Amino acid sequence: MIEVKTIEHFDFAEKAKARVLIIYTGGTLGMDFNENGALAPCSFDRILNRVPVIKELQVNLSVVSFNEPIDSSNVHIEHWQLLASLIYEHYDQYNGFLILHGTDTMAYSASALSFMLEGVNKPVIFTGAQLPIASPRSDATENLVTSLEIAADHKDGRPIITEVCIFFNHVLLRGNRAKKVESQHFDAFESENYPILAEAGISIDYHWSYLKPYAEDFVQVHAAMDNNIAVLKLFPGLNQTTASAVLLSDSVKGIILESYGSGNVPHEKWFLDLLRESIDKGKLILNVSQCNGGRVLHGKYETSSELDRIGVVSGHDLTFEAATAKMMFVLANLDNMRDAKKCLRTSIRGEMN
Ligand code: ASP
Repeated sequence: MIEVKTIEHFDFAEKAKARVLIIYTGGTLGMDFNENGALAPCSFDRILNRVPVIKELQVNLSVVSFNEPIDSSNVHIEHWQLLASLIYEHYDQYNGFLILHGTDTMAYSASALSFMLEGVNKPVIFTGAQLPIASPRSDATENLVTSLEIAADHKDGRPIITEVCIFFNHVLLRGNRAKKVESQHFDAFESENYPILAEAGISIDYHWSYLKPYAEDFVQVHAAMDNNIAVLKLFPGLNQTTASAVLLSDSVKGIILESYGSGNVPHEKWFLDLLRESIDKGKLILNVSQCNGGRVLHGKYETSSELDRIGVVSGHDLTFEAATAKMMFVLANLDNMRDAKKCLRTSIRGEMN
């Protein structure tokens, strides 16, 4: 079981404009030099000491930290379940939620949380950093401070952001549309198929027409996720043995097919027969493109024309990260094949156009 520390409260302002719950999971952002001079995850108190300006934001904070902060490459479904339940349990007490998370799997976690938390109408903002907070040129301060402002922001008594997002390097992105695209520079995240939700310059400019509109809360958690999924990424030279190992494996219930361009696959009989056999065995196959921009369009080329007939579901412009999270969500929550396919091809949390 993943343990969390006792929740700490920081009441900085008597008349604070909001109260935000920070969930500190780990990642580069929260690293500081330990007694041996090595970078290691540090406590939130140390983070606060590095960014004293947080105390002046007119935002009161509560912080809950993982007992052992993790590198996000170690994130698992249990971590998502913990995050979802922390948000659900504390939903009414806070105006917004800020999750400090490593960048490597942030887009997966943000996608997963978007599916697991239905009916959220408050900001759930993920952020992290490319350089530790202890590093003089770190991007952590800017990411942390602006994320907190966004998590606390409201207009006419209502939160401005009402969904799961990633804030990083001046831009706010829909969580299930974002991808980590850069490991060296500060602009680590992009959203190729959906516009930026807000840009932070001198002020935070919200792009109102792209924001999810406010609706009454009816938060529900769908904690179950089924990880019996596999990925078949196409490449010229893929052979039948490898493809059938993935498509026909007994334990696999859902497959993400990473195809070429607008959803194209090899037009060879053995490959199409394998897809058919896999679907006949009751597996779900979701087709997403290896291209970051554009979308899957079954039938645009001869090489994708058979896919609808075979029963492969088009993932339109889903990111790979959102596709894996949605497949786990669908497999765990819908047991009838027709409903599962319908859910996969419908946008349920703004994840596709
Ligand atoms: N490996 C780190 C992580 O994802 C990288 C980062 O935080 O930027 O936890």
